Amino acid sequence: MSKKIAILGSTGSIGTQALEIVRANPDVTVTALAAGSNVELIEKQIREFRPEIAALWDEESAKKLALAVADLPVKVLSGMDGLLEIARHEATDSLLTAVVGMIGIRPTLAAIEAGKDILLANKETLVTAGHLIMPLAQQKGVKILPVDSEHSAIFQSMQGQDKQAIEKILITCSGGPFRGRQKAELKEMTVEDALKHPNWAMGKKITVDCSTLVNKGLEVMEAKWLFDVDYDDIQVVVHPQSIIHSMVQYRDGAVMAQLGLPDMKLPIQYAMFYPYRRPMEGKRLDFFELGTMTFEPANTDNFPGLALALKAGRTGGSMPTVFNAANERAVALFIKGKIKFLEVAELIERCMDEHRVVENPDLEQILAAEAEAYEIIERLK
Ligand code: NDP
Ligand code: MG
Repeated sequence: MSKKIAILGSTGSIGTQALEIVRANPDVTVTALAAGSNVELIEKQIREFRPEIAALWDEESAKKLALAVADLPVKVLSGMDGLLEIARHEATDSLLTAVVGMIGIRPTLAAIEAGKDILLANKETLVTAGHLIMPLAQQKGVKILPVDSEHSAIFQSMQGQDKQAIEKILITCSGGPFRGRQKAELKEMTVEDALKHPNWAMGKKITVDCSTLVNKGLEVMEAKWLFDVDYDDIQVVVHPQSIIHSMVQYRDGAVMAQLGLPDMKLPIQYAMFYPYRRPMEGKRLDFFELGTMTFEPANTDNFPGLALALKAGRTGGSMPTVFNAANERAVALFIKGKIKFLEVAELIERCMDEHRVVENPDLEQILAAEAEAYEIIERLK
């Protein structure tokens, strides 16, 4: 069964791993590629995978790219129009959304409207617009297939099971590089410290989100939308070895889990070929080498980012957008060395405190809430 896929964010951590999978599965066609401004890498990708369309967000970079690939029959676009055209591209059957941040909302909605299945890595989209995306997907009969490793594990643990029999979702969390640290120590943590994830190699923004536990908070909200569960029925379980990627508990007490060595290629590939499991090279889990697996509760006092996420999720409406936008901006400031580690959560909290919730926001209202959070941070910094 051949596949025709388009990738938004092809030059990033998820995008490049997805292309490695395409390379190993020659029956997959890449119809379109998009990225932010990385001309050099996307040019290489275009030469290797020969998409019909490519886009760079940044207009100047798109112009450079158009010149660089002038010898090929590829159409080069830029900006949101470019992303939207790629999302709707006739020849595509699945769109991998692997851009970082809320920029993914409009292309994801456009692709669903056009009947494309979504391989969803871009969690910020679902966190802020899940109430628009999930009903639209249902109405259009398209699949939203999770790429995030925890959600893929949950999805895999639900195959062949009765959805009504689900009691609880257990979402695992490595605890990040600062697990066990006290507030006094956390105050002094630098960007380099935050970028040292114990088990996973990922893009910068998500790696910082793992160190604050904001990533886990976003993932709880993502799970709520993907699997239609209440916040009371989702529990975070810190599991430092990152071998159990998440679990589902059923009403007879059975717990189903998906285990494996930490490697994003498995969840990307599972989403790409669902419901088929294709072979994949690589190291296998050796239980004797592993020896032990450990578990502990998450410490929301020292890592308030998780507690704030849960509060935003339970409040609902436009609050998850404010949480997410404030975090995006605060993390960017932290990466630039402009604020300290603990200030990330402080800024999120200030934005949430100032925000007046809009129930059931439409796209405009979501973007307005995003802009409001950016303004508050601008004022505070
Ligand atoms: P990266 O930072 O590695 O890559 C981001 C990609 O998005 C790059 O291709 C970048 O292009 C592109 N991009 C950035 N801004 C724009 C824009 N305005 N328009 C078009 N493209 C843009 O991120 P990750 O791959 O780590 O993460 C992608 C998403 O997947 C995130 O939502 C993350 O939370 C999620 N995710 C990632 C995991 C991982 O292992 N990395 C695991 C689970 C989820 P350029 O290179 O040109 O800047
Ligand atoms: Mg994850």
